[in-house]
Amino acid sequence: MFNHQDISRFESIETPFYYYDLDLLRRTLAACKMAADQYGFHVHYAMKANFNPRVLDAVRNSGIGADCVSGNEVKKAAEIGFDPGNIVFAGVGKSDREINDALGLDIFSFNVESIQELGVLNGLAAARNKIARVAIRINPNVDAHTHHNITTGLEENKFGINTWELAECVKELKQSPNLEFIGIHFHIGSQVTDLEVFKSLCLRVNDIRNWFEDHQLHIRVLNVGGGLGIDYHHPDEKAIVDFEAYFKVFDQFLERRHGQEVHFELGRALVAQCGNLVSRVLYVKNGQKKNFLVLDAGMTELIRPMLYQAYHQMENLSVLKLAGNERNTTRYDVVGPICESTDCFGKEVEMPVARRNDLIVIRSAGAYGEVMASGYNLRDRVTSVYSES
Ligand SMILES: *Cc1c(COP(=O)(O)O)cnc(C)c1O
Repeated sequence: MFNHQDISRFESIETPFYYYDLDLLRRTLAACKMAADQYGFHVHYAMKANFNPRVLDAVRNSGIGADCVSGNEVKKAAEIGFDPGNIVFAGVGKSDREINDALGLDIFSFNVESIQELGVLNGLAAARNKIARVAIRINPNVDAHTHHNITTGLEENKFGINTWELAECVKELKQSPNLEFIGIHFHIGSQVTDLEVFKSLCLRVNDIRNWFEDHQLHIRVLNVGGGLGIDYHHPDEKAIVDFEAYFKVFDQFLERRHGQEVHFELGRALVAQCGNLVSRVLYVKNGQKKNFLVLDAGMTELIRPMLYQAYHQMENLSVLKLAGNERNTTRYDVVGPICESTDCFGKEVEMPVARRNDLIVIRSAGAYGEVMASGYNLRDRVTSVYSES
């Protein structure tokens, strides 16, 4: 929710820009940490959701760890002060250089995604006289009931090791002296809003954990990944996810043996609502069939609507600033300036009649927004603005 002061401030800044509400971010992190602590759960932040330095600072200060999916993310996390003992590293295609860098930092865990990777990691660790801690990322074949393009836990997805490969996996582990097996890892997808899905995951994890114990492999860490979704339709009313309800599902349905740790890797749920993309109307094109609102922001600043048909709430701040409801509403296809027909934030969106230079804010853009920005069309990288200096 933006007040007149915010809007006056936005009017003096060159658009488009990302706007981060750092107070909301801190409150979200604190709510998550508090809910997790209650059950003794460990939380890592999935850095790929947003690695803006101010966002990372807030996460690090909250005491949450880091979940990385590239060597550069691992290096960045360590550089800005995340304890390496609190960094986990997943990814289906870790290069030798990335593995070596992470070995050098002595991170908490490599989340290994194939049997071949186990061999490579063992070899590289041996060459450096190191022992790498390893969690096996397993594809649990649980349907996340989310968008096809952000589903990761089905057999048709490239991630993780399939359950029928586990026997071979155990054999490989037992003949890898430079690997220390610490547990099992899962991540089934993103923007999961049905908590039943996490219950299904828990039940699968229990079975798989039992299988490992039957094979005399002790499991210290159960890492259940991330994926908790947010409410894109109610960015103000549901600004902070119900972390309590989320963790409770795991407390209820995940069986823990004595001393077993439960780890989470949340990205979107921690940072999505604190971020916004602020843009201006460049042109209003009224046609016979459609009206177009042409913004100065496009898929180069926020690609989720184009990649995942994602919904983002849009508000005309210039109208909000008017005293009463002085403009009628109409329907617009809200588009960006990029030379691609897919460069559209929303079709037939009901909004107040807009004018050139009106400020339009695209909400819930804190996760998978700025990090996915591109220079397509030789666009400039846009600035980030914060609620405090
Ligand atoms: C992306 C990712 C996450 C975080 O996903 P969110 O939906 O943002 O919570 C967690 N773990 C792994 C391995 C990931 O790739």
